[in-house]
Amino acid sequence: MGGVVPPELTETLDPHRLVMRGTRAYQPRCVGLKGTLGKDALCGIYERRPSVCREVEPSWEFGRPSAQCDKARIAHGLPVLTPADWPAVVEA
Ligand code: SF4
Repeated sequence: MGGVVPPELTETLDPHRLVMRGTRAYQPRCVGLKGTLGKDALCGIYERRPSVCREVEPSWEFGRPSAQCDKARIAHGLPVLTPADWPAVVEA
């Protein structure tokens, strides 16, 4: 299908869909996630992340909240992002 996600990091959900390994666990942790949550975590396959990941915006990065972002941060004991987390870019 022309996808870019490394196939070895996925598993079959059903005959038509794949999921990232680790995301179906009781306490999910995607195998693509590197580092420690709340400290230095980042997506290890950012440029090759799935479309569902690309669709989740960090709250306020684009001037609006994201319920999915807030829910995930709260689930991991992190404060939700605010507009103050995205300082304005000053053009030269
Ligand atoms: S953004 Fe990266 S680390 Fe997060 S769920 Fe998607 S693939 Fe995994």
